[in-house]
Amino acid sequence: MTLFETVKNSVTVKQAAEHYGCKVNRGDMICCPFHDDRHPSMKLNRDYFYCFGCGAAGDVIDFVARLFGLSSYEAAKKLAYDFGIDPDKPPAAVALKKPYPLARAFRNDEMYCQRVLCDYLHLLERWKVEYAPHSPEDELDDRFVEAGQMLEYVEYLLDVLMFAVLEQRVKSVDMLLKDGTIAALEQRLKRLKKEVQHRGEERAIA
Ligand SMILES: [Zn+2]
Repeated sequence: MTLFETVKNSVTVKQAAEHYGCKVNRGDMICCPFHDDRHPSMKLNRDYFYCFGCGAAGDVIDFVARLFGLSSYEAAKKLAYDFGIDPDKPPAAVALKKPYPLARAFRNDEMYCQRVLCDYLHLLERWKVEYAPHSPEDELDDRFVEAGQMLEYVEYLLDVLMFAVLEQRVKSVDMLLKDGTIAALEQRLKRLKKEVQHRGEERAIA
């Protein structure tokens, strides 16, 4: 039997989920660790998981790979080691990965950064169109200028947060939270939203 088969035959998705800190309820449902899930939407079957919220699905190896940002092979090695199937320690890279509780806190931070950056991106995209100059003589609107300066960078950040390897994502999230970029941006977006609402109300009254 290959390592993959051995692991899949020995560890159920539910066992793995429990082992790595997911709270499994009576119906074998958990809060999906792969999207911002408040009520359990992921069903754990013996051989596979399925999330009714985001559609994530796969076997026990897929689950662990995604949970820790590992390749399938690394995930299989990790499971084999953590469940005592294979006494060989997994590759050093696997051991360095953060344990689940940290991973979970990280995912929350990551989703928070993604949410704020996405809001900002949409705002910039709107500004780029709404405040574009109509003729070459028009003075450039600050919002249009900001969109021109920032769009590419925000897209880049979002790309990193969504698609880069775990280490790089951890570093980026850490940087964005530590230097207060995201908190400041969130405050500003909230303020802008309120101003827009306020203007809307004034217009409605007038
Ligand atoms: Zn999900």
